[in-house]
Amino acid sequence: MRNSKGSLMRPDPLPFSASHPVVTPLSPSVVYASDTPDALDDQYEGRVHGYTYSREGHPNADVVAKRLDAMEGMPGGVVTGSGMAAVSAVLLGLLKTGDHVIGGNQLYGRSMRLMAEDLPRLGIATTLADPGDVAAVDAAIRPETKMILVEAVSNPTLAVADIDGLAQLCKDRDILLVVDNTFTTPRGFRPFDHGADIVIHSITKLLAGHSDVMLGYVVAKDAEINTRLSVYVVTTGMTPSPFDCWLAERGMLSFELRFERAQATAVTLADHLAGLPGVKRVIYPTRKDHPDHERAMALLDGKGCNMVSFELEGGRAAANAFTRGADGLNFAPTLGDVGTTLSHPASSSHRALSAEDRAKLGLSEGFFRISVGLEDPETLCAVFTEAVAAATS
Ligand SMILES: *Cc1c(COP(=O)(O)O)cnc(C)c1O
Repeated sequence: MRNSKGSLMRPDPLPFSASHPVVTPLSPSVVYASDTPDALDDQYEGRVHGYTYSREGHPNADVVAKRLDAMEGMPGGVVTGSGMAAVSAVLLGLLKTGDHVIGGNQLYGRSMRLMAEDLPRLGIATTLADPGDVAAVDAAIRPETKMILVEAVSNPTLAVADIDGLAQLCKDRDILLVVDNTFTTPRGFRPFDHGADIVIHSITKLLAGHSDVMLGYVVAKDAEINTRLSVYVVTTGMTPSPFDCWLAERGMLSFELRFERAQATAVTLADHLAGLPGVKRVIYPTRKDHPDHERAMALLDGKGCNMVSFELEGGRAAANAFTRGADGLNFAPTLGDVGTTLSHPASSSHRALSAEDRAKLGLSEGFFRISVGLEDPETLCAVFTEAVAAATS
């Protein structure tokens, strides 16, 4: 045995068991030992599968990637250290100086920053356009346009993109359509069925679902693009930690149940809020009064997902009274946790905008975004009744 000399020789052999564990073992090992240089050659040349160094890949990441591949219906995805690592891998790993990319005009804040600051610094031109308006996106296309990046449902105003129209446009113009599917999840929307070329997730949110993991994922329809993404992720060190992957796998085992429950409660809560005095408007994609109602029904297959936005009457004072009055709900700028969380764009995600620009998006001081969790729906509605009453009294 390699460790017959005891002391620091590793590893000790695991005790023999004729049965096997039912839970994926956690493999924190950074390095993997091979028998001979020939054996290592076989691995590097792809004749046999084996791990070498965990930045290049490890079992816990592969287990999570395989699960997401199955959910999105596309093989070859890569797990990354965060959702933003996945977005960055797509933008920085596939585009080059002189290229042009079009982004949805309501992308996740840090994706917006990549579009505004980091890509232009590298000589990659960017334009933002409304992904619900195919003609506007078409008008933004240039000869050097290589990619369009959108989210199916926007944060926090829950506008629904015209993915089918964009997919046709991208096909006609030979442009890659990239969909960040974090909000909608593979349970709410399957971008590849609607012509997307690349799909991105922040696993941090609903997929892992417990606010204790930060991970991302990206997969492309084209195997060669998957290889380029995976090489870029390994080279730039965007690789995830085994422990995060292990926790994410655990969370993902209950993802479908959590999604169904949170979504059903979101429908109930949206209708409840709409009936409360002091609530100006409620935004939920499958409600009849949503501006993109028909598109939501078609694209999301009648699923509104777990996010509800609404606007309270009154200014900052009402907003403060509301979060103080929302007993047991965390006022925290994230989404997809087991517990319902509240976010207030004017003081967080959209604080950098001028009041005027926020007003254009409809983001007043009374605007809140709710990430609906797994609480009992009746209890949750009662908490909102009280908090809204506290805000408007
Ligand atoms: C949270 C989020 C991201 C970034 O993911 P992280 O895991 O926080 O890096 C990207 N896109 C969307 C839509 C998100 O909600």
